[in-house]
Amino acid sequence: MLHHAVFLDRDGTINFDPGYIKNPDELKILPGVIEGIRKLKEQFGFKIVVISNQAGVAKGLMTIEDVEAVNSRLIDLLNDGNAVLDAVYYCPFHPEFNTPEESRCRKPSPEMIYKAARDLSIDTNLSYMVGDRASDVECGLNAGVKSILLMSEIAEQELSSLHEKNKKPNFVAANFFEASEFIIKDFGGNN
Ligand SMILES: [Mg+2]
Repeated sequence: MLHHAVFLDRDGTINFDPGYIKNPDELKILPGVIEGIRKLKEQFGFKIVVISNQAGVAKGLMTIEDVEAVNSRLIDLLNDGNAVLDAVYYCPFHPEFNTPEESRCRKPSPEMIYKAARDLSIDTNLSYMVGDRASDVECGLNAGVKSILLMSEIAEQELSSLHEKNKKPNFVAANFFEASEFIIKDFGGNN
């Protein structure tokens, strides 16, 4: 049986994004995220999968171990609120520092979503992507999942960058709570 999933960007979507988080102690979960994940999982059976670019590694600003330590704190903080992640994927590469082959995982490429879909038996047609950047929305659209842009200080510029490429999110949400409400309503309408 195939599962339905919500793919989540990490920085700026699940946690505050001060830029290149290296120290797990800097990690703070955004309001509404724990409740939203719990509801999507427990009441609607969504797999919850993190899809994150971590080019700070390619840029020499942090190591793989730093990324793993932050991810592990993220998992712990969410677990404490019974918001259990099913998997975390990240891409540490960047085309300016790595080969095109290595950098293939980097959003807006749909590679990480495709990999998660294979690993966890996910039907992308029944799935969603939530993120705060144009690259998140594009990644989701490239993978064939409905994509939600979270409003933030950078939302206008992200929307115009999508507009230039003739792309647009399926929904723009004020915050994580609103994104999860959209998903629940949209999913219910399809099933
Ligand atoms: Mg982000």
